Amino acid sequence: MKNLLFVTVLLLLQIGFSQDSLDLSYYLPQDISYDQSIPTPKEIIGHEVGEWHVTHDKLVFYMQALAEASDRISIENRGETFEGRPLLLLIITAPENHQDIDKIRQDHIALSENGGGTLNLDTMPIVVYQGFSIHGNEPSGSNAGLAYAYYLAAAQGSQIEGLLENTVILMDPSFNPDGLQRFAYWANSNKSHNLNSDSNDREFHEVWPGGRTNHYWFDMNRDWLPVQLPESRARIASFHKWMPNILTDHHEMGTNSTFFFQPGEPTRVHPLTPKMNQELTAEIGTYHAKALDSIGSLYYSEEDYDDFYYGKGSTFPDINGGVGILFEQGSSRGHLQESENGILSFPFTIRNQLVTALSTVKAAQAMRVKMLDYQRKFFTDMGIESAIGRDKALVFGDSKDAAKTWHFAEILQRQKIKFHHLSKDVRLNGKDYKKGYSYVVPKIQKNYRLIKAMFEKRTSFIDSIFYDVSAWTLPLAFNLDYTELRSLGIAGEEVSELSPLTGSLDAQSDYAYLFEWNEYYSPKALNQIANKGVRAKVAKAPFSLEGKEYGYGTIMIPVQQQELDTAELYEFLKEVALESKIEITGVSTGLTKGIDLGSNDFDPIKKQKVALLVGEGVRSYDAGEIWHVFDTRYDMNITKIDTEYFDSVDLNEYTDLIVPSMGKDGLSKKQSEKLKAWVKQGGTLIGYRDMAESFEKNGLMELKFKKDTLTAKTITFGQKKDFEGAQVTGGAIFEAKIDLSHPINYGYKNDRLPLFRNTNVYIEPDKDSYNNPIQYTDSPLMSGYISEENLDMLKNSVPFQVQRSGKGRVVVFTDNTNFRAFWYGTNKLLMNAIFFGDSM
Ligand SMILES: [Zn+2]
Repeated sequence: MKNLLFVTVLLLLQIGFSQDSLDLSYYLPQDISYDQSIPTPKEIIGHEVGEWHVTHDKLVFYMQALAEASDRISIENRGETFEGRPLLLLIITAPENHQDIDKIRQDHIALSENGGGTLNLDTMPIVVYQGFSIHGNEPSGSNAGLAYAYYLAAAQGSQIEGLLENTVILMDPSFNPDGLQRFAYWANSNKSHNLNSDSNDREFHEVWPGGRTNHYWFDMNRDWLPVQLPESRARIASFHKWMPNILTDHHEMGTNSTFFFQPGEPTRVHPLTPKMNQELTAEIGTYHAKALDSIGSLYYSEEDYDDFYYGKGSTFPDINGGVGILFEQGSSRGHLQESENGILSFPFTIRNQLVTALSTVKAAQAMRVKMLDYQRKFFTDMGIESAIGRDKALVFGDSKDAAKTWHFAEILQRQKIKFHHLSKDVRLNGKDYKKGYSYVVPKIQKNYRLIKAMFEKRTSFIDSIFYDVSAWTLPLAFNLDYTELRSLGIAGEEVSELSPLTGSLDAQSDYAYLFEWNEYYSPKALNQIANKGVRAKVAKAPFSLEGKEYGYGTIMIPVQQQELDTAELYEFLKEVALESKIEITGVSTGLTKGIDLGSNDFDPIKKQKVALLVGEGVRSYDAGEIWHVFDTRYDMNITKIDTEYFDSVDLNEYTDLIVPSMGKDGLSKKQSEKLKAWVKQGGTLIGYRDMAESFEKNGLMELKFKKDTLTAKTITFGQKKDFEGAQVTGGAIFEAKIDLSHPINYGYKNDRLPLFRNTNVYIEPDKDSYNNPIQYTDSPLMSGYISEENLDMLKNSVPFQVQRSGKGRVVVFTDNTNFRAFWYGTNKLLMNAIFFGDSM
């Protein structure tokens, strides 16, 4: 009888769905009573859950109202998004636990610090972090959060009371507020009064760039390890503050899919994740299965999704003594959409998310002691593991770039990894480590495995298919020198809090000022200088002056013949040094060892006005990364020109135009002709990744490519997917040899550079070696997966070319030098193309 009732409800929902009858009873357990003093979502936000897509503002109002009304809930705002939206966290537990919440937290943390001594696990609550809709256009999670939070606040009876006594729930109602808001606006503003399930309707086809990403178009679910975005910073702080035993991450997938919960593909689990983690994941899965069975919803697990990259929400907890769980619900995208599984309604997707949020805490309650014990053991084992082996520490740094090193240390700090100052300058394995420009990381510490996951280079794998990147070795991404140490001998004081970066200009000069190009923020300084109309030049050769060595790319600002007088120039440059955190040196003579300051080997710098092609056809992640690097790192304006009106824009205002990856289609003939004419007039055109092929095809560059000749000889139809998957370079790190005298490499000190690549585009080197300033080595694989066939083509190929055309030039990078905001090591290449294009 009960089952029959469910089937009827299901049929009603899937055929001829009407929103009029929609109310909370559809979502929530009906065999209990609810506290009437707790406001329902509709009472606060004005519509029923699932009737409209909740906007982030309304979500915030409701969560605040709940916290106000319920003694089970406290709420904190942990910061704000790029668009100023609050990053809320609800702490939900029994009122008695709230009285003692900090003691509960400290005891819980002690389990991961020192095993917790004599703490009795039988009486300790389990900590569960539940987060929703990190991809803003996968909204069923956050919308389910309304009903879920209501349930936790209002449900009555022994079941909920027992649950809350033994559980601390950290509820993150929206992992990605800016994306959720953007998507809600789209879905709501295209909703018809008579719901239309026709998938051709505009409601299901969001405009570029869509609501998946955050303000700068980043995929937030790749940033849990590198922690570069404000949303991740707040979240990772909460994570380390609480060390949750279970963390859930509610997503959506394609409309024709059903529901997925982890465990995923058994062969695609990162080897640093303990086996027991996957066993616990599977056991938790039985609770989800039971819950979904009871409402007749189809589901699957152990396929498609992996558990490999620690930058993802469902994998990050696995290296931190917890268990991460990924949920994926087939998306209705709008309010009602036809699918291979029948008509899929928004409320149906919300209900699946809700029942699995409930089955998560049910599993947590039942497995509480087991999970706490697993966490304790994870960290005790780590203590033993970290003490084994000869290497006791790591030192990392860049003796010419304090800011980049500092930003790397910032990641360690955010991930609660302990590190020390370097006590004195040292030279190890041919690299200089300078005090203030280097740090030492002891290996014997709580987060030993996390350190391993950040620093290790891995080139052999069980599987050859990756859902995401196969490598993220952080010191390579930062292009830092690093080496293992047998002792902590060179470690100075432990860093408790990184002190802010500083810059300086020592003294006023009547002759000239100099700064080297190595510091991360030197392009920010140069941009300020050029925008002010101050004349500056770049050195095309090294020199030494007044006891100091200056490398390729040193910037020289003469004091005379400027619009600012001597004192004004000094004040201005002092400000620049402080803001850009660089050191500027005043000199008293132009006579150097090497090129003199008046030499023709100094090229003038022009003020740059840069445009970026965005919009339909352009890969939004790549475009967003570039916008972000200009806007937030270098404080440089970049004009986003949409493909929709690109044809009518007068490009002559711009010195540079950047075209991010556009996929297979590339530029149209019309776009190419316009660009060709502009380049001839002096413009610098910069293309990324597959634009190499598009530029070549459209006659913007002359390039030769190495082509793949691989054919399937003994592969069956059933093996086709794996065969093709194995040829994908999902993201790995490769070593190039660089010519330090070429302007594209100014500001680099080593002649080897790690690059991130996620394409299979291989450019043949030019016949003249000086035209190949960046070239892959004979043995380029540093970390990650690439097929043997592709690796062969990569060897000695070139990821960069520049060619002159008329008064301008065309530049191409096949690799992504701005990847996901944490590839600090190659950001300068783009800046070099912008500022020094004329010298190439
Ligand atoms: Zn997702």
